[in-house]
Amino acid sequence: MLLTTAMKIPASSPAGQAARSAAWYQTADGAPRGFIHTHALEEVWFHTGTACNLACPFCLEGSKPGDDRLQRVRLADVQPFIDEALTLGVKQFSFTGGEPFINKDIVPILDYALQSRPCLVLTNATRPLIQRIRQLKPLSQHPHPLHLRVSLDHFEAARHDHGRGKGMFAQALAGMRELHHAGFSLSIASQAIPGCSQAEVSQGFGEVLQAAGLPADLPRIEFPEFHPPAAQVASPQISAQCMTDYHSESSRRQFMCAFSRMVVKTAGRMRVYACTLVDDDPDYALADTLIDSLPVPVSMKHHRCYSCFRLGASCSELQRADQDMSATGAGDT
Ligand code: SF4
Repeated sequence: MLLTTAMKIPASSPAGQAARSAAWYQTADGAPRGFIHTHALEEVWFHTGTACNLACPFCLEGSKPGDDRLQRVRLADVQPFIDEALTLGVKQFSFTGGEPFINKDIVPILDYALQSRPCLVLTNATRPLIQRIRQLKPLSQHPHPLHLRVSLDHFEAARHDHGRGKGMFAQALAGMRELHHAGFSLSIASQAIPGCSQAEVSQGFGEVLQAAGLPADLPRIEFPEFHPPAAQVASPQISAQCMTDYHSESSRRQFMCAFSRMVVKTAGRMRVYACTLVDDDPDYALADTLIDSLPVPVSMKHHRCYSCFRLGASCSELQRADQDMSATGAGDT
C-alpha cells in the first residue's frame, strides 16, 4: 500500500488505545489537551543511540561517552522500518544521536537507505566522523544525496569549545572541509545567541566558514533551549482551544509530529515515537510499527511541544524552504 498525502490515515489502531498518563489527555487545570493529527509520513528519523564522544551539558538527549539510554541501532534493526516507510510514501530518512558516526553500522545503514531516498545526518563533525570519511566517500555515488548538518553552537571558537571541549571547533571545521571536498552538502545548527542580531550572527558564521575554506552562506538552523531529558520545565499548557485560537489547519500541518516519526531502540526493542524531541517520555512511544503509529493523535503535553507551538521549532529540513531558518529549532548531537 502506498500512503500519500491524499490517502487517509487509518482511523484507529490497537497501539492508539495504549494506556497513557492522564496528562496526555488533560492540561494541569483540567482542560482538554491540544493534539496534532498526522496527515502523512514524509520523514522517518532514526535515533542511532545516545552514545557520543562529547558530553555537552546542554545536550537535549543527555548524550555522553558510553551512554545507552537509547541503544545503538544495527542495520538489521533499521532495515524493516526503512522498507515499511517506503510503502508509506516517505520522502527522506534522517539520523540523529548521540553522535551517529560512533555507531559502527552507520555507513551500511546509510548505504541501504540512500538506495531509496535522500538522507540527512546530524553530527558534531569531530573525530568519529573524520575517521569515517574514507568509508563515506563512496556514498556520494548513490542516486540519492547525503546531507549533513553540523552543530556549531557559536561562531566564536571559545564559545563553542566552552560546551564541547577545547579544540572541538577547529575539529568540526576540519570535518566539514573533508565533507565539502567529498561532495556532500552541509548545513549548520547553532544555538540562539542572546544579544546578537540575526545579521551579526549570520555575518559571524559567514566569516568563520569562509576563513575555513567553506561556502560562507551555508544554511543555518538556530534552535532554542530544549533542556536535558526528563527535565521538569514549567512551560505554558497547550489546550485544544489553543490549537485553534493560535494555529490554523495549515500551520498545524507544519508540526513535525504531523508528518514524521522517530524510531528508537530501548531495552532491546525498536519503538516508534512521535518525533525527535520527546523520546524521554514513554507516553510518546506510539507503536511498534510506523503504520500503527500514524492514527495516534499526538498530545501537546511535553514541554518541548511549546517550542513547536510558539516558535515553530523543528528538526526537519523538509518544509524549511518557505520558512525563516532563524525561527526554527533543531536536534543536537
Ligand atoms: S515536540 Fe513538537 S513535534 Fe514533537 S510531539 Fe511535541 S509538538 Fe509534536
